[in-house]
Amino acid sequence: MTTLALPAPSLAEGRFASLTVFTDEALFDQTGIRIAFTTRNGGVSTQPYASLNLGDHVNDDSDCVAENRRRVVSALAEAKYPLVVPHQVHKDTIVEIASNAPEAVAQAQEEAQRGADALMLTTTKVAALLCYADCVPVILVGPDCQVAVVHAGWRGVDNGICVKAAKQMAAQSRAASALDEGTYLASMNAYLGPYIHEECFETSEDLACQFEQKFGPTCRFDNRHVNLGNALRSQLTHEGISLDRIADLDMCTVCNTDLFFSYRAEQGVTGRHGAFAIRTSY
Ligand SMILES: [Zn+2]
Repeated sequence: MTTLALPAPSLAEGRFASLTVFTDEALFDQTGIRIAFTTRNGGVSTQPYASLNLGDHVNDDSDCVAENRRRVVSALAEAKYPLVVPHQVHKDTIVEIASNAPEAVAQAQEEAQRGADALMLTTTKVAALLCYADCVPVILVGPDCQVAVVHAGWRGVDNGICVKAAKQMAAQSRAASALDEGTYLASMNAYLGPYIHEECFETSEDLACQFEQKFGPTCRFDNRHVNLGNALRSQLTHEGISLDRIADLDMCTVCNTDLFFSYRAEQGVTGRHGAFAIRTSY
């Protein structure tokens, strides 16, 4: 198994065919791993799903969603690569895609459709996509080029699915006698895409209190507002992931509905943007 010193993570806007996304170009140059957080731009759906809605469970026209997903794969990778999209259920199930053979991809897709909130890529040339409208999109990249795409709303932060994914990646690496867990986690990159920020994320007082107790004072903005990004940083760094290897797009979905879908800002009737990843070479 090849291991690499990954470039420091960074997210910048990029244009790919009709799409505007946020990606890490240095990561792609060095590893062939394309990660991206999509925006609303570049798709074919009409309001309230305009235009790049990637969610197939929000009452949008299914042909439009299929075309939008096709555009994402074709712009960011190659159209011929298969795409796996889970049915997200706010739990902590991780589905691993370990082979790009058609029957293995079909099996992973079937498993992911039974309910999963993270996809782990331990193979190349299969794309992973998860969908969001306020929850935190997280992409983890290991120094051995394993990748996980994770869905973390407050339930996902609370149930620790990001940490679970990171540790599962480290365990696989150790099994292949590459790196010990501590070194692996310290060398990993984590990317947080657009999500509902603390000033807009009103919760119950109970939940705000629970978050403060579990993840520290920086996770509670006030009595009724929670900071999901700080909670994630707290749990990831607690496991040994370096703070300077966690990039945060630092954009609030509620405050930027021109660029992103927001379940809260749009009263539940809206589309979903995506977190996308594919390993093209290693
Ligand atoms: Zn906001």
